[in-house]
Amino acid sequence: MSNNKHLNGYVDEDDRDDTPPVHYPTCRFCGKQTIPVAPYKSDADADEAATMKCDCYDAQMYRQDKQKKELREKNIVKLRQNINSISDYCDAHNIKLTPELCEIVTAAGIAVIDGVVLSSQFKFARLRLSLSAGSKSAVVIKATYSDGTQFEV
Ligand SMILES: [Zn+2]
Repeated sequence: MSNNKHLNGYVDEDDRDDTPPVHYPTCRFCGKQTIPVAPYKSDADADEAATMKCDCYDAQMYRQDKQKKELREKNIVKLRQNINSISDYCDAHNIKLTPELCEIVTAAGIAVIDGVVLSSQFKFARLRLSLSAGSKSAVVIKATYSDGTQFEV
């Protein structure tokens, strides 16, 4: 048993004790350290937790950025689900939505999510697909069949 634990209660990672090492949450931007409130897996985990709570400007910017990225990922997942629904709709109407076409529509949807374009439209077979920005940058896809039937996801 090593005897270096007297140092501020810090438990060294090499310690052969069963006590897990303590990771002190430290803001990655301003270096403000806080008291651990959860058993973090690593220093990086602890630092992420501190950065997510810190009041400094850079940490706030980091949080905003992280939220935006998470929202974007969520919207892309939703987009792919919607394109799957459109694909099912196409199957039911004997229209083949090829993987290539799916890829192009997905890329257009991501461009809508990212605000590169406001909307995008495709015409193929007897179908028109309109992609446009919905609330919180989610994509709304409207499929219009040649007989006027509409399907929206
Ligand atoms: Zn900070």
